[in-house]
Amino acid sequence: NDTTPSAPRQVVRALRAGGVEVLEHRDEPAPVAGPGEALVDVAAVGVNFIDTYLRSGVYPTTYPSVLGSEGSGVVAAVGTGVTDVSVGDRVAWCDAPGSYTSQVIVRAERLLVVPDEVDMRTAAAVPLQGLTAHYLATSTYPISPGDDVLLHAGAGGVGLLLTQLATARGARVITTVSTDAKKRLSRAAGAHDVIRYDTLEDLTSDLPAIVRSLTDGRGVHVAYDSVGRDTFDASLASLRSRGMLVLFGGSSGQVPPFDPQRLSAAGSVYLVRPTLGSYVATREELVSRSDEVFAAVRSGALSVRIGATYPLADAAQAHAALESRSTTGKVLLLP
Ligand code: NDP
Repeated sequence: NDTTPSAPRQVVRALRAGGVEVLEHRDEPAPVAGPGEALVDVAAVGVNFIDTYLRSGVYPTTYPSVLGSEGSGVVAAVGTGVTDVSVGDRVAWCDAPGSYTSQVIVRAERLLVVPDEVDMRTAAAVPLQGLTAHYLATSTYPISPGDDVLLHAGAGGVGLLLTQLATARGARVITTVSTDAKKRLSRAAGAHDVIRYDTLEDLTSDLPAIVRSLTDGRGVHVAYDSVGRDTFDASLASLRSRGMLVLFGGSSGQVPPFDPQRLSAAGSVYLVRPTLGSYVATREELVSRSDEVFAAVRSGALSVRIGATYPLADAAQAHAALESRSTTGKVLLLP
């Protein structure tokens, strides 16, 4: 086992909780793979909304913190006891803390081997948002043919992938977006109806009215809501009786405390607040989901949009773009 450290690595650390100015790009000694770990030369880093929550302090972390959890690369060294990957393997991952770097340590049992046909940028774009779209469509609410689905931020990273998976399962998908360019992207991903929610006078009453007019007055079977604070009430009011509200993020802010009695008033509806970790907890589930997602990418059934790439040193710009709603699809950092 070669665990000899090499040249310094680049990292991006959040020095404290705050705005994008707290991100610092610097060189640090390269880490060494311990037992069960792999050292990976990073090809591309996936930027995710959760990275902004950890930077801003919405989610707790210890500073100074190397942000990021997703990426792709080539295994450079392995520690003792590693059997899942070998040096030279092309790999990707969704849950390695400290992925904003040129060399990352990943627990080998969490690495996914990237199929030959999938390029390294696509490989970095798929694990977190692709696996999220997969568990949301197949497990949290297993979408059936004929289901009516409401999905906010339809041109975002998760949004474009979830739209494709939902329509492939036979759903009729209604999305929301904030620009005409995003509207075109969402439609191209298969959305049947795309609503400019930014133009509605009163989102909380106008959006459910539109959704009901598109569903014969009944409302949707499932609403996937990652926008959170601004859309939660509208999502709840868009459900049909016994429908499900899947709250999976808070891009506009976190939803304030909630009275469960409202679920009764909305028609015996369900509310779930899922997180990816619960759906890829074992290696078996991680690999079976990612096999399905990578197979869909290889066959062309799932198209992955990389909306923007930035040098790793410009992580602050990537965060600013994501937080200002100006990105579409996946954002990557390149070391
Ligand atoms: P996106 O690419 O979807 O970016 C966020 C989008 O949210 C924006 O582009 C914007 O779309 C919309 N939005 C609405 N209001 C705001 C606002 N005030 N500020 C910023 N954006 C806003 O990001 P991701 O695909 O990375 O993640 C989407 C969501 O899913 C995030 O909330 C993330 O935390 C969550 N997530 C949850 C997971 C889980 O397992 N629970 C796993 C992965 C992601 P528009 O301009 O069209 O309104």
